Amino acid sequence: METMKAVVKVKPELGAEMQDLPIPKPARADWVVVKVRATSICGTDVHIYKWDPWSESRIGRKALPQVLGHEVAGEVVEVGVHCTRLKVGDYISAETHIYDDGDLTTMLGSPHVGTHMRIVGVDYDGCFAEYFTLPEKVCWPNDPAIPPEVASIQEPLGNAAYAVLGEDADVAGKTMVITGDGPISLFAVGVARAVGVAKIIHFGKYDLNMEIARKMGCDLQMNTNETTGKERLEFVLDHTGGNGVDIALEMVGSQNSVDDCFAMVRKAGRITAFGIAAESPLPVDYNNGIVFKGCQIHGINGRKIFDTWYRNRNLLAGGRLDPTPVITNVFTLADFKAGFDKMIERPRKSAKVVLFPDEKECQAALKRLGK
Ligand SMILES: [Zn+2]
Repeated sequence: METMKAVVKVKPELGAEMQDLPIPKPARADWVVVKVRATSICGTDVHIYKWDPWSESRIGRKALPQVLGHEVAGEVVEVGVHCTRLKVGDYISAETHIYDDGDLTTMLGSPHVGTHMRIVGVDYDGCFAEYFTLPEKVCWPNDPAIPPEVASIQEPLGNAAYAVLGEDADVAGKTMVITGDGPISLFAVGVARAVGVAKIIHFGKYDLNMEIARKMGCDLQMNTNETTGKERLEFVLDHTGGNGVDIALEMVGSQNSVDDCFAMVRKAGRITAFGIAAESPLPVDYNNGIVFKGCQIHGINGRKIFDTWYRNRNLLAGGRLDPTPVITNVFTLADFKAGFDKMIERPRKSAKVVLFPDEKECQAALKRLGK
């Protein structure tokens, strides 16, 4: 039997192990097998790596051992007998929300939040491996102009695009607050710039990440560690003609950040809720923040399949959007522990970390990224 290297969550405690596993076959007749060229570490992987209370309740120790990872760029090496669209050699990335065709939300155009939706690397073995298997229907053909380290980060970039664009993509010429230092906040700054948001105000607290936000194109910035909520509100009002911003993207999940967004959004504006609170319920100013403002609240869990993929592919391939400043570190898959250490380190000194099963692909990416 042919084997491969894979990063496996073995025990319900901090860490993971590199193991030799059999190379998978298509799990079902309409699934494919992909040879992984690049795979990136997501916040979700960090939760599972640490085995925090979310992992214990969402995945559960009974599911272990399980291969980590869901963000990917790779090449199709085998197709199941009922696959119709892909062929061996296709260069793909993957929508990681494996939607269920029978869910009501799927039929109504929001498959990403279906009741029976399952997630790669959470409900199935993931892609921190040389090969993995997934349904053909969630594979997304990449433009060959997009290098693997960028193709891999399209999944979180899709969250950012969905957060920025909302349901109606009515953002051109508008003002926007984006909170947070995480990769998706930084990607959101770049997407907002690329799609014509007129004024992007970023709130962060880590120097490196704030610098990346400036590279991605924010217009104004405040350090949340060095300012009060009142100062931030005054700053935003000063720069929006006293009205507040049209759109506020909450991407931290902290009380301060939520309070900022509800205070700063203008009347009849939009708040996008993406950050995950450490503890929920989390109080909001229901009367003044929502009801009397007549504002919309938009929750983001996943991407708009495949609308955000399509738009991002065009933006990336055309060079209108360059997300590479957010890719701060690349390692070989064998060096996955170094990658997780970078992601866990506080104060933060990294944004996005990409792993390569093949040493040569890793070297080529380092060169392309100028590192
Ligand atoms: Zn992800």
